[in-house]
Amino acid sequence: DAPKPASAELFALREAHLAGPQKNYYETPPQMERGWKEHMFDVEGRAYLDMLNNVTILGHGHPRLAEAISEQWLRLNTNSRFHYTAIAEFSERLASLAPEGLEAVFLVNSGSEANDLALRLAWAHTGAKPMLSLLEAYHGWSVASDAVSTSIADNPQALTTRPDWVHAVLSPNTYRGAFRGSESTTGYLDAVVEVLEAIDAKGEGLAGFIAEPVYGNAGGISLPDGFLAAVYGQIRARGGVCIADEVQVGYGRLGHHFWGFEQQGAIPDIITIAKGMGDGHPLGAVITTRAIAGSLEKEGYFFSSTGGSPVSCVAGMTVLDIMADERLQENARDVGDHLKGRLVALIERHPIVGAVHGMGLYLGLELVRDRTTLEPATEETAAICSRLLDLGILVQPTGDHLNVLKIKPPLCLTVDSADFFVDMLEKVLSEGW
Ligand code: PMP
Repeated sequence: DAPKPASAELFALREAHLAGPQKNYYETPPQMERGWKEHMFDVEGRAYLDMLNNVTILGHGHPRLAEAISEQWLRLNTNSRFHYTAIAEFSERLASLAPEGLEAVFLVNSGSEANDLALRLAWAHTGAKPMLSLLEAYHGWSVASDAVSTSIADNPQALTTRPDWVHAVLSPNTYRGAFRGSESTTGYLDAVVEVLEAIDAKGEGLAGFIAEPVYGNAGGISLPDGFLAAVYGQIRARGGVCIADEVQVGYGRLGHHFWGFEQQGAIPDIITIAKGMGDGHPLGAVITTRAIAGSLEKEGYFFSSTGGSPVSCVAGMTVLDIMADERLQENARDVGDHLKGRLVALIERHPIVGAVHGMGLYLGLELVRDRTTLEPATEETAAICSRLLDLGILVQPTGDHLNVLKIKPPLCLTVDSADFFVDMLEKVLSEGW
């Protein structure tokens, strides 16, 4: 049976008081009250395999993280204006994970905050305002991170309401974009250069470029080979800085890489991270060079009350420890390879499955009505997600056409759970689409 909220009163309370634009992602959302590893459980005790939760990378309810947070909470949690062990140690660990030269760390509370700060750093460092962003992108809800978000799935007005300092360029979507295949680099690069030349002609300089290094919002699509390094070259030649938004794809999820930009062989000037780095505890960071970080001093000091608090830093360090001890990046690689192999096999049996994007435990299954025209199967994707919910699987659509199943489970996903997901997906696909 389709799940329903156990308590109509509780749901009515939510509808009455939670501000409207906070969308409900299911028509009748189950009431989730517990989680364990890659599963969530509703109030009726029904188990759901969580193929969606890119925040909980360790898995739900990790006792070691709960203990570390609780211990630090009992000892001290404070405004981040003081000096304490956790902030020094966590900053050092983040800097040591970043490429050489990126050694200055800012600690914030979310991905939107991290991208907002990255944009401010680019403006302060270059003294210029124009920013290049990709179409089909999502970078956050705050004023600046929202401005560079061009995804029409997240905001149908996005393309007509961007401020004039935002310059959006073709989505380098190698499956359905203007140029296709991993060797479509030149086509997309020419499009970037064209926009950059138009910015040059205005004589206002260039602040930089922001992009996800593996295109998460488009469905986990790898950028064309060499694209990122070539664009970074163009940006730097004009004095701009390059921001890698690793909020969604970063930090071990890709399995084969710790950072998304490694897949492209490119090194950014600013890295932004959040989501999984706190396993759901609000935590974000910006990692950059000393020179770029120092530029903000022109505007005064930077201060976030809870960004980098003792509890947040302990949460972040414990996530890194658990990832290493439980070999979660390796698990993302191995289980991800197995899962991708099984999903790719669906292409032969089900005409609606157009492609499988991504790597590790960041995959996107693109559904199309016609493999030649690539007409997006948008309504079918919504119906498939809803049917999968009935069968105990959490997965949702992404991309500008909302026709890509975004698959980003906790990194502790087992082969058995991956197989259960594909078996259920195949059962739904066999029901006729
Ligand atoms: N960047 C990317 C690529 C994201 O996917 C998101 C969240 N979906 C954000 C930034 C914003 O992060 P947050 O929701 O933590 O503010």
